[in-house]
Amino acid sequence: MAATGRGRLPAGAGAPAAILRIAVPSKGRLRDPAIALLDDAGLGPETPGDRALAFPCRNAPVEALLVRADDIPEYVQDGVVDCGITGLDIVRERGARVTELQRLGFGACTLEVAVQEESRVAAPGELDGARIATSFPNLARELMPVPIELVDVHGSVELAPRLGLADAIVDLVSSGSTLRTNGLRSIGVLLASEAVLIGPPEPRDDAFQLANVFRSVVDARATRYLMLNAHESALEAICALVPGSRAPSVLPLSEPGMVAVHSLVPAADVWRLLPELEAAGASSILLVPVERMLG
Ligand code: AMP
Repeated sequence: MAATGRGRLPAGAGAPAAILRIAVPSKGRLRDPAIALLDDAGLGPETPGDRALAFPCRNAPVEALLVRADDIPEYVQDGVVDCGITGLDIVRERGARVTELQRLGFGACTLEVAVQEESRVAAPGELDGARIATSFPNLARELMPVPIELVDVHGSVELAPRLGLADAIVDLVSSGSTLRTNGLRSIGVLLASEAVLIGPPEPRDDAFQLANVFRSVVDARATRYLMLNAHESALEAICALVPGSRAPSVLPLSEPGMVAVHSLVPAADVWRLLPELEAAGASSILLVPVERMLG
């Protein structure tokens, strides 16, 4: 079989590549963003129908299997699938022997300790011997700074203190509104979680490759490409505002004394940056999304 000039077999030659099986949450809050990530990575499902349990992905030998997020760590650990997307909190709670291949930038939440609004307790360390309601018994025991008595509940954990079943809860929080609605107050964060791509202890090469593709999408989503025009006299002030380790590109315009400045900026800084750039003399400011970031 002839090799290509770079010593690699041409695509499609030799033994067919084994399909990479990725487990994706079948329902719940991680399902849609996980499928959107596959889409943005160019691997969107060919037939994502609501009832499908598995679907082939476009453009790559990857098959997605829809599985409960809670089951994904075990499936990956046991080699039922080659990699999977689930919450870091679930991975840690299950204690699965898996490798974290990539943080995915969605499903962000924190595992927090909360007490009733009127409680005098101010920190997790004051809950020595207290009854803690949680659906994360392993993480609560591991991460609480003092010994506790566990009250194992599934669902409506927030009600346990009001019902007199527990002195405090350990639960996932994102906006904090569920805690407030239930008259609870956070007294400490035990773990910061987000969706992660996990693989077995020794992942396949193509699982690392998939992690790299996901990283390029995750990094790009957090970035905007900034373009603006300015007079050369404003350049120093503008360059000082544009963050990042790499200098922006500065291009001469046909109008004498005018330049264009191009740079990548963190999406989170944009709201602050735009008025500052205008005040520093920037005009014709354009911000465009970035599709992929590599290197
Ligand atoms: P599900 O119960 O299937 O909707 O998904 C639960 C997973 O979503 C959790 O294990 C977390 O990884 C993630 N998540 C993000 N924010 C929250 C939140 N406020 N409450 C519960 N889970 C959250």
